[in-house]
Amino acid sequence: MIQVNDLNKWFGDFHVLNSINLDVQKGERIVICGPSGSGKSTLIRCLNHLEAHQRGQIIIDGVELNEDVKNIEAIRREVGMVFQQFNLFPHLSVLENCLLAPIWVRKTPRREAIEMAMHYLERVRIPEQADKYPGQLSGGQQQRVAIARALCMQPKIMLFDEPTSALDPEMIKEVLDVMVELASSGMTMLCVTHEMGFAKTVADRVIFMDDGQIVEAAPPRDFFTRPEQPRTREFLEQIL
Ligand code: ATP
Ligand code: MG
Repeated sequence: MIQVNDLNKWFGDFHVLNSINLDVQKGERIVICGPSGSGKSTLIRCLNHLEAHQRGQIIIDGVELNEDVKNIEAIRREVGMVFQQFNLFPHLSVLENCLLAPIWVRKTPRREAIEMAMHYLERVRIPEQADKYPGQLSGGQQQRVAIARALCMQPKIMLFDEPTSALDPEMIKEVLDVMVELASSGMTMLCVTHEMGFAKTVADRVIFMDDGQIVEAAPPRDFFTRPEQPRTREFLEQIL
């Protein structure tokens, strides 16, 4: 579903992604962790071309991500993204936030789009908030709207960039529950998160990044109990 071959990116002289190789199968759930500044967000953002890479190859569902706008649009239709800051449109209701992309990008008829939006708002357990504005919701509710909004595009892949790190502790669980449910539905997921409980229960593979490189990638049982790289061990000692 996702193939990343020798991906390299620089910000000026700074080598932010250093020869990243990653294959993600359909339905696979990947958790990415690593210290601040290691390139996690940049990697995720490259996968839907919010950032351009300079060397290497990204192929998503058979389409190569290059400067061809048609390819970029095709990939963005298939890839949903949820950010740390929910990035909802504050002047639109919850429902309208969910309708925007299906109607304007997918050309879904409005009635059908509303039906789908309500379906996903039910799945994230906030259908009763449909007519409210983002500012009237809690952080956890806003993040669940952001997830529902992404799902309304019926993506094949969902990318999450620290979706719970801006939330108060009591709201983290309600968002993680939705993500766990999504994972069990077979969605292909890449999640940058330091929620190691989530990683243990949901991930097929945990990836540790440091200094723009993938240092270690292993199923959670190996990753947490016998990490091979000293840098991974140090990191785990700090956060567990
Ligand atoms: P965090 O855990 O803090 O979110 P991260 O692993 O997601 O960190 P990135 O946001 O990918 O890290 O950033 C990697 C490095 O690239 C950092 O040193 C950051 O300062 C730098 N960087 C990120 N975006 C830019 C940019 N637009 N221009 C220049 N440097 C950038
Ligand atoms: Mg980040």
